[in-house]
Parts: sequence; C-alpha cells; structure tokens
Amino acid sequence: MQHHNRINHQGLPSTSGLTLPVIDPATGETFAQIARSNAQDVDVAVQGARACLQGPWAALDATDRGRLLMALSRRVSECASELAAIEQRDCGKPTQQARADVVALARYFEFYAGACDKLHGDTLPYRQGYTALSWREPHGVTGHVIPWNYPLQIFGRSVGGALAAGNVCVVKPAEDACLSLLRVSELMAEVGFPAGSIQIVTGLGHEAGQALCEHPGIDHISFTGSPRVGTLVQQLAAAHHCPVTLELGGKSPQILFDDAPVDVALGFVINAIVQNAGQTCSAGSRLLVQRQLYEPLMQRLGEAFGQLRAGPPEMDLDLGPLIRASQLERVVSMLDEARADGIVTAGQGVVVPQASARGFFHAPVLLRDVPPQHRIAQEEVFGPVLCAMPFEDEQEALALAHATAFGLVAGVWTRDGARQLRMAKALRCGQVFINNYGAGGGIELPFGGVGASGHGREKGFEALMGFTRLKTVAIRHDGI
Ligand code: NAD
Repeated sequence: MQHHNRINHQGLPSTSGLTLPVIDPATGETFAQIARSNAQDVDVAVQGARACLQGPWAALDATDRGRLLMALSRRVSECASELAAIEQRDCGKPTQQARADVVALARYFEFYAGACDKLHGDTLPYRQGYTALSWREPHGVTGHVIPWNYPLQIFGRSVGGALAAGNVCVVKPAEDACLSLLRVSELMAEVGFPAGSIQIVTGLGHEAGQALCEHPGIDHISFTGSPRVGTLVQQLAAAHHCPVTLELGGKSPQILFDDAPVDVALGFVINAIVQNAGQTCSAGSRLLVQRQLYEPLMQRLGEAFGQLRAGPPEMDLDLGPLIRASQLERVVSMLDEARADGIVTAGQGVVVPQASARGFFHAPVLLRDVPPQHRIAQEEVFGPVLCAMPFEDEQEALALAHATAFGLVAGVWTRDGARQLRMAKALRCGQVFINNYGAGGGIELPFGGVGASGHGREKGFEALMGFTRLKTVAIRHDGI
C-alpha cells in the first residue's frame, strides 16, 4: 500500500514520485510505501500552513481551539483499536503498549484542549502614569521532528501543545514509523481542523527533516531524537534565528538505597528498561545500588530477567522487536564489546521460538559491576540492556548519577524523607521520581533535560510557554 503526505488535508505523493519502504520489525517484511519527500514538498506544506495561520486559523479563538482538540481526543478514543493496530504493525509494539500509546495520545489532546483558554497574560507593576502588560502569542508555523519510538505519544505532546497555544504545525515523522500519524491527521480533518493547520511530510531525516529545519517559514522547531541530530537541528535553526526545543536522549539512573522498598522497586526497575524494548528516551538504563543491597538485588533481579520474554507483538509479551535491523546490530555490538571487556551478565531473558528469525528481536540483558566510564554505561544502547553498579553512600550515588553527559530523568528509592529531598535537589536532570519511576506517563508533568538530554520543556502546562513568545506592552496614559 502507498501512503501519501498529508498536506492541506489531501493525500499527496512526493513531487519526485520517490517512496521509502515501510518494514514490519517483527518479520523484516516490507508491507507498505511512504512518500520520500524533498525540500519542495516541505515548502508546499509550510506555505499551506502559513495560509491557514493567516486565514481560517486566525478566525478561531482559544475556546474554539479547545473544542477542536477535545473533539479530536474523543475521535482518537473511538478509533483506539485501529490506531493501536497500525502502531503495532509499524513499530512492533506489544498490544498493551500500543493501546497505552493511543490512550496517552487522547489524553494529551484532552489536557491541551482544557489548557487553550487558560493561557493568559499579566499586568506588571511599573512607573506612575503607565500601565504595563505582557501576553503570550503563538510563534506561528511550528515544525515538529518526531522519532520512531513513541510516534503517537510524541506527536500528541508536541502538536497538542503547539495547537493549543495557537500555532499551526508541520510535522516530519520518523521514516521508520509514520503510519499512525498519517491516520491521526485524517481524524483531525474529520473533526474540523482547518486545512493547513496540520501538515504531515514523510521522508528521510537529512532530506525532508533538514529541509523543514532550515525553512525560513518555520517559526519554532520542536525536535525529539538523538543528541547528534539535535545539535545539527539547532545549527540549522540558528541560521534563520528560529527557536528550538530539544528533547534528546538519556542514560537515566535508578538509585536504590539500602532502605529502598525493594518489592515495589523491582517491578519499576524492570519495566523502566523493558518497556518498548528499551527504546525509550527516559529508560532507566543504569541501576545504582547501595552496597548492602547490591548482592541480594542482583540475585533477585537476575532471576526476574531470566523470566522475561521477547516475541511477536500480538503475543503481548514483555517486549517486542527493536525497530529496525541497524538498531538490533547496535545492541548486539555494544553487548559484544562489553562482554569482550569482561563485563558479566547477571541475568538474561529469552526470545520465544514463535518469533520470526527475520524479526529484530533481542532478549533483555542485566549486566553487573559495569565500570561507570565504559561505553555501555555512557551511551544510549536504546535496547533492553540494564547496567548495574554498586555505590557506598549518597555522595558516590550522585557522582555516578552525574557521570554521563545526559540529564533527563532519575529514580530515587529510599524511605528516608530527608534523603529524598536532598537527592531531588542535588540531581542534575529534568525529572526526579521518588519511590516510583515515570509516574505512569505524567502528561501533566513538565518533561525535558539538561546537558546532552536537551533543553526546553514539553508536557504539562509549561510546554505552552515554549510554544509561545511573550510580548510586553507599556502604555503611557498620564501627561499626554
Ligand atoms: P534520530 O535523531 O536519528 O531521528 C529523530 C528524527 O530526526 C527522525 O524523524 C529523523 O528523520 C530526523 N532527522 C534525522 N536526521 C535529520 C536531519 N539531518 N535534519 C533534521 N531531521 C533529521 O533519532 P531516532 O533514531 O529516530 O530516535 C532515537 C533517539 O531519540 C534516541 O537518542 C532517544 O533517546 C531520542 N529520543 C528522545 C526523546 C525525548 O523526549 N527526550 C524521546 C524519544 C527519543
């Protein structure tokens, strides 16, 4: 099947006529084609978005936008099974994960629907004879570059916030996973979003993605992806003075002190690295354990890893395949290197026999005593690999937590209330979870990183600050 771009609510092939294959990660088979768009296609999308911004979109007030987003949330929920099935095939997600992604998408639209008409300005204390005001205005046409790991969720948080704030959006999904977003854009047409308010242009990063980021008609870029491409996107945007929000990767620590509620923590520790086959920016990929707890925990966790199963998405096991062959190769080569350097495996799950040999499956792996400076403890594997290491005290836990270039998320497990606060204050990252991890998705909770994890915040009400710019107005009313 051939999928076209969605520009001005129409399905349009790339002007070049070129396409890209869509591969099922569970079988390695090509089952569809998408448009391989170029700079010309991006330009058509940006121009259409601009016309909408100045035309039908400008006629809507904040309450209208809220109603549209709420209608979209309902429509997404009505189409949940269909969207989950598309996402499952395209990304290889186990059934529960695919369904959870659709629930989150609907929730993002619901949250931002409610936020539209709550975003207001301020009056500022200023000199006698003046009144000073500030208010938030949309950037205009926003560009959104989306990765393949959670297409629906990242589309929801990025586009949901941007539309709520009054922008129109041009989206470049990842070449490995864009089918669900093409379908959502059809739903947006159905519920009444004006043509041009949501444009989807598929294609390769260095072609369509780059063309979007360097397009002078783009007023803000929201990029979610790797640190390497994030740096490039920022450079492209700088050339036309375009603000950028970067949501990049992480090497997030889960820190377990001796007094951790271990029985609760275990499930979270496993889920944080197994969910979506470890292809999660906020994956808890490093496990820091206080010395006294270390051996008993390695024992229990090793056994638990032995029970984990990877397999066909429709079997709905602990994890499905990785997204593509090169991602599987990356996981295998990083593990080979670690083992060649003497790093020991403390537990490993299985790939079930029903999994196709041509699918991109890898069993979850627990590595122990990983040297903090080893590549596998420093770089994102973006696969189901957990690196465990012991620590003696709070000071060392913090030093290890901060031993990578990243700073996205941290989990802290301790019953000591004073230590909870000390750690939350000291950790250099965007989110800290105490005695939990991820807080169930936390659509309401601002999310983003420091350092190589990026800058700017998405999710929650805070995201609307990034999708707007502040205007200050000072009115002199005395002595004129
Ligand atoms: P990637 O950086 O290769 O690709 C991300 C997106 O950028 C894709 O749509 C891709 O086509 C596009 N792109 C690639 N080259 C480009 C270019 N030259 N110009 C413009 N766009 C370009 O990353 P990926 O492999 O798709 O995703 C995995 C990475 O994303 C990991 O590092 C992961 O941690 C990160 N990630 C971060 C978050 C977050 O919120 N912090 C969420 C998901 C993924």
